[in-house]
Amino acid sequence: MRLLRHRSARCFRARHGRLIARHGSAQTRQRWIPRLLASELAGIAVTEPHGGSRPAESRTCVVAGLDGTWRVTGRKTWISRLTEAAVFVLFFRAPDGGLAAAAVDATEPGLHRQPIPPTGLAGWTWGVLDLDEVTICQEDVLNGDGMLLLREHFAGYRPLVTATALGGAAAVFDAVTTRLSARRALGDLPRLRDSTLITLGRTHVQLATALLGAVTASHLAEGGHPAAEPWGAAAKAHGIDTADSAAAELALLLGASGFRADCQTAKTRRDLSGLLYADGIHDSLYRTAGKQHTATKDAAGVTSVPTPRDRLASVAMTG
Ligand SMILES: Cc1cc2nc3c(=O)[nH]c(=O)nc-3n(C[C@H](O)[C@H](O)[C@H](O)COP(=O)(O)OP(=O)(O)OC[C@H]3O[C@@H](n4cnc5c(N)ncnc54)[C@H](O)[C@@H]3O)c2cc1C
Repeated sequence: MRLLRHRSARCFRARHGRLIARHGSAQTRQRWIPRLLASELAGIAVTEPHGGSRPAESRTCVVAGLDGTWRVTGRKTWISRLTEAAVFVLFFRAPDGGLAAAAVDATEPGLHRQPIPPTGLAGWTWGVLDLDEVTICQEDVLNGDGMLLLREHFAGYRPLVTATALGGAAAVFDAVTTRLSARRALGDLPRLRDSTLITLGRTHVQLATALLGAVTASHLAEGGHPAAEPWGAAAKAHGIDTADSAAAELALLLGASGFRADCQTAKTRRDLSGLLYADGIHDSLYRTAGKQHTATKDAAGVTSVPTPRDRLASVAMTG
């Protein structure tokens, strides 16, 4: 489980700045990529008060100015890295009515923040981002349809979030096995109960197989496979459900010490509960994944669902 923890922590470093790197204009990339490589943070602002599950219905709109710039006004909610981000990738409705995205400097006048204390994931600030006639230059606008950018980005991002969550649950697994071994060595537990050994065996394989699903989703996203989006959605929902339930089950094996507020296991469980919402609530994600299984075939008799052989070929090509 230690390897799983290490790999998970490493792969979470690539964040929302990838949207700027892949779709920004030359000027925008020149401006932000060196700063992001130097560890400054990019936030993403999509969710609005009427519901994050429907990003296409964004109410944050721009008005075109005579000088060619746009002015954007609206409210974004539940935004991570609210005060730490140097730049936000902001999604809004463009003058043509479609969803668009732009890189917005966090120091722009017209950005107002209301931090909200979260119950978990407390490493960075989180809350409401208000935009009051914030200026967007044409060079700040990312190339491409906003909805497509969002779908492509989260196909790659969700597996990374999932791997991080599974790494957190793997740390709980290690804490539990270390404590059980120590109690045995001290003679406090003369033998381990079968139910405990079954829980260890089951949660270990659950975490490992969920990680394999996330790795597969990540390979599909890197290779631009058409099934990357449903794989990313389903792997995130399944992986985080697995991490959350495994951590809850394992924590009981620590006894009451796992209930202390300063216990790392208790903190990990709070963090995992935040990931049940962040980057997509699971009923919406399973629904996205479920849609492909009822997709109609095109004229050539091909559905959007790749055969197992296609999937393996894609993984091999991008591996
Ligand atoms: C820790 C954390 C960090 C986050 N960070 C960010 C961030 O950095 N940037 C950002 O933009 N957002 C962020 N979010 C917001 C997150 O993306 C949203 O919470 C998520 O997309 C769901 O949106 P919502 O909370 O508005 O719930 P809703 O979309 O309102 O969904 C709530 C429930 O209603 C259900 N529902 C939706 N539509 C229907 C319907 N038609 N009929 C019946 N039920 C329906 C949903 O499936 C769900 O079960 C973060 C959230 C958390 C918890």
